[in-house]
This record gives sequence, structure tokens and C-alpha cells, in this order.
Amino acid sequence: MSAIDLYARPTPGFEERVAHALATLQSAALDHAGRIVQATSLGAEDMVLTDLIARHRLPIAIGTLETGKLNPETAALIGRIEQHYGLAVEVYRPQAEAVVQFVKANGEDAMYRSLELRKACCGIRKLEPLSRMLAQRSAWITGLRREQSGARQEVPFTDRDDAGRAKLNPLADWSWNDVWHYIATNDVPYNPLHDQFMPSIGCAPCTRAIAVGEDFRAGRWWWENESAKECGLHVSQHSDDAAASSLSQRESRTVVSAQAHVGAADVKPEGRAEARNDPSANSKTPA
Ligand code: SF4
Repeated sequence: MSAIDLYARPTPGFEERVAHALATLQSAALDHAGRIVQATSLGAEDMVLTDLIARHRLPIAIGTLETGKLNPETAALIGRIEQHYGLAVEVYRPQAEAVVQFVKANGEDAMYRSLELRKACCGIRKLEPLSRMLAQRSAWITGLRREQSGARQEVPFTDRDDAGRAKLNPLADWSWNDVWHYIATNDVPYNPLHDQFMPSIGCAPCTRAIAVGEDFRAGRWWWENESAKECGLHVSQHSDDAAASSLSQRESRTVVSAQAHVGAADVKPEGRAEARNDPSANSKTPA
């Protein structure tokens, strides 16, 4: 059963939310002409935003991070977007030498060994490339939604990042059903991994399928404490420091050895777990 079969149905007010998201994008394109980018994770929400931007020919750049650790299906979506919409996606990759040195010092699976190493990997593969994407830009657009996790319940439509740029979240009030209803009714290309019970998709080693009873982002960094589950792209320095400080105090009991967790979570060698049941029955999954 596909993600569309499972989730695509509008919640009340869907048309108004689409209109509001479009108006937010149109206004931002005017306010930040030539200096605005959609930083797409290539997830379902970001595909909705890319479709709105492309469909309405809004002068907003599309940028993404190719971390070098993406699943093939995720990486292939970049080309599919370009072909489907006839636009060029800006692709930002990590500095090759930084990756080589990090892997040489810490190994390919360093992210499982400690929170610090996982954040260091995210820093090299995501944060530094994102800083290049956002350089010279005054605004960026994300697919953050309040429903995605407890840490995102307060996501505003309009925010500021630590550098003072406008950070716009046009889908902040959308439901997961809204996202898939839009994708279904507008024939939006999407990552086929969403059809394999992966609602939130990041790098391959750090993404697994979710099972019944698990939260939307349970498949991301599943060996970590819930409060640490951000890569830094959407965490202000202030709150990130607070979370890191809090975590370091509890590290011995909250950052679980991935090796130990692998057995408990039925994870494949490449880091994905099998969905043990149909998540459509999962009341915690946005649906
Ligand atoms: S999500 Fe995982 S593989 Fe990707 S940059 Fe972060 S730690 Fe590294």
C-alpha cells in the first residue's frame, strides 16, 4: 500500500491552507527577490513546496544538500525534480577533504558511537553546505510542520534564524494527510521510500522505517534521546546549546549504543528497520 493510499485525504480547511502557503511564498518572493531559496530535504513536505513554487513560476531558488550518505532513491529525486519541472536544483555537497579526514579519524559509522560524533558528521555533511546555500540570501523556506515532532509544535509561519535571515515555514499548520492529498491531486513526484513506511527521510545510516505506535520522526536517529533528534538545520544556537548541555548531563543513560539498539530494533545492516506492521493503524503517526 502506497503512502498516497495510506494518508491522502484532506483535513477541514485544506484549500485555505494551500492558499495561505501560496500567498506566503508569493509574498516572500517579492520581499526577497533574488535572495531567497527553498532548502529542500526532498521529503514529502518539501515536494509540496517545490510544486507550488514551480507551478506558479515563483522566482525562488531550489537548493538541497547531497550529504554523500543519501539513499539512492533520495539522491535520484533531484534529477526527477529537474526533469518533472524543468528547473535546476542547486546541489550543495560537503567539503571532500573534511569528510575524508572525519571518516579517517572516526570511521564510517561514527554517528552511532556518540551524540558528539553524530553532530560532528551532521556539521560536516549538512551544516557547512547549508551555510554556503544560505550565503548571500536573506530568506529561506522549509517544510517544517508543527505536527512533525514535539520539538516542532511551536513552529511559526515566519521566523528568523541565528543570522537574522527570514525563515519561512508555509506548511507549519498542514497535517500529514494534507501533504499527501496535495501530492496525490497534483501528481507531485516523491521519494518512493515514503511507500516503505519512512515518513521522515534523511541520510541512509540515520533513517529507518517506523512501526505501529511510533512517532513520525521515530525513524530518525532512533538510538538517541528524543530531545536530540535534530541535525542542527532547524535548531537555533541558543536552544541547541541548551539541548546539548542537557544531553551531556544525561548522556550515559540517554545516548544508547547503536550496536545494542540494532538488535532490539530489528535493524538491517545498512541501518534500516523493517516496519513490523501497517503504520496506517498507528494513531501516533500524523494521519
Ligand atoms: S544524518 Fe547521519 S549520515 Fe547524515 S550527516 Fe547526520 S550523522 Fe551524518
